[in-house]
Amino acid sequence: MNNQTVQETAKKDTAVKKYLNFINGEWVDSESGKYTQNTNPVNGEVLGEVVASTKADVEKAVQAAKEAQKKWRNVPAPERADFLYKVAYLLKERKEELAQVLTKEMGKVIAEARGEVQEAIDMAFYMAGEGRRMFGDTVPSELRNKFAMSVRVPVGIAGLITPWNFPIAIASWKSLPALVTGNAVVWKPASETPFLAGEFVKIYEEAGLPKGLVNLVYGSGSEVGNAIVEHPDVDIVSFTGSNEVGKKINGRAGELLKRTSLEMGGKNAVTVLEDADIDLAVDGIVWSAFGTSGQRCTACSRIIVHESVKEELEQKLMKRMEMLKLGDGLDESIDVGPVINRSSLEKIHEYVKIGKDEGAKLLKGGEIVTENGLDKGNFYAPTLFTNVKSDMRIAQEEIFGPVASIIPVKSLEEAIEVNNSVEFGLSSSIFTADVNRAFQAMRDLDTGIVYINAGTTGAEIHLPFGGTKGTGNGHRDSGVASLDVYTEWKSVYIDYSGKIQRAQIDNY
Ligand code: NAP
Ligand code: MG
Repeated sequence: MNNQTVQETAKKDTAVKKYLNFINGEWVDSESGKYTQNTNPVNGEVLGEVVASTKADVEKAVQAAKEAQKKWRNVPAPERADFLYKVAYLLKERKEELAQVLTKEMGKVIAEARGEVQEAIDMAFYMAGEGRRMFGDTVPSELRNKFAMSVRVPVGIAGLITPWNFPIAIASWKSLPALVTGNAVVWKPASETPFLAGEFVKIYEEAGLPKGLVNLVYGSGSEVGNAIVEHPDVDIVSFTGSNEVGKKINGRAGELLKRTSLEMGGKNAVTVLEDADIDLAVDGIVWSAFGTSGQRCTACSRIIVHESVKEELEQKLMKRMEMLKLGDGLDESIDVGPVINRSSLEKIHEYVKIGKDEGAKLLKGGEIVTENGLDKGNFYAPTLFTNVKSDMRIAQEEIFGPVASIIPVKSLEEAIEVNNSVEFGLSSSIFTADVNRAFQAMRDLDTGIVYINAGTTGAEIHLPFGGTKGTGNGHRDSGVASLDVYTEWKSVYIDYSGKIQRAQIDNY
């Protein structure tokens, strides 16, 4: 599809839309009778309305999920997988349409939006495949005429709470493994990205979703999110978002002895050693620092560089940043879209002021962009600081915008120390031509994801996704590892001796 066609298709459906909850197989209003607006961060245009739900709506959703799960848990996993394959093909068919909805409500450029939808497609095919794997163990028993094995069983009802920056990819990382393993779902998407959530659930519906198996409840985090966390019949809460909210959820769920899977913030770094291919590093940094306007959880926010190549890297980065075009992501020539909302824009600008006050040197950017018709949107200029010290706030705290900080170091060891000096542990990358140093970095970089000679973004769905330290609580989204979140292990012993045999410990 060329530029013009993308924009024309996008213009066609400007009628105000209303998105309702999906509970027990029906699109329903909330008992609150209230609505919130969804806007386009490019220009503030109102895209439509969304119901603002209450605790009572969550209650209905959980009851529906409970009924549905009773049947679904006994559907053979390969048959559950057939449903996931249908979802995968429908996602594939609708890829362009979904990508456009995504760009309009969230702002990421259309090429990245297509990439995100592709991630959901890949995840659907991959998890459908799990329907015929989902391996457990069969192991020898200690005793004669006895058989032992372990099998995965569903946890029950999965409460999913998702962020706006990857509205369909993250929802797919969570809902698809939950379903293939036999759980039912109650999902609260981020308030900034309700439409894509509705479109995803429509695809579930069209693929033949059993009544009540996936329920969508729109509304605020404090009301609807919290009601999901606190509901006694929700067995596992899978959350991706900020540390602030993640900690709250973990605290409350902890008191209720409820399982949580938490994926939170990052403060990811690219390290560039003196033997690196600098042009390659520049490419990797520009894409991971300024792609999605720096709003990926894996975005590069720190650039740790050997002092001998610092100046070359600075010059080349600034030159590349000159070429980045800001604007409406529906236009294919645009590189950087808006940030999600006004308060995010202000927070980013505040961090730039903090950086200047801390004594960092601003090389480029550092301002809200309003010229060339961008004044109605939330645009921030790609920003680069240098001479940043590792203990400065701009080098420690998550900014979640197009701001990167160069931190000079003298050795690989110092680079690793700086990389690991933050509270987060999501992604890190290193550019080097030396295989020995690459392996040392792989061993010592304390993050859940490590890249060699690539930027900090670009995770593949069949590998575990998540972080160490303050980024997570030990669980992983995507990959086979995600099955652990939605299943319990059941160990089964079958004694065919015809006697009551005591276990070996009682025989010694
Ligand atoms: P957020 O403000 O924490 O919101 C995430 C979700 O939690 C939203 O659906 C939100 O609802 C809901 N929520 C808010 N308060 C709640 C409460 N008290 N109880 C239950 N739910 C509540 O995060 P965000 O701004 O959407 O996303 C950005 C953050 O996500 C960044 O920190 C980023 O690093 C992180 N992230 C991490 C990963 C990862 O895998 N590690 C991936 C992507 C993003 P409302 O929208 O209604 O407020
Ligand atoms: Mg929006």
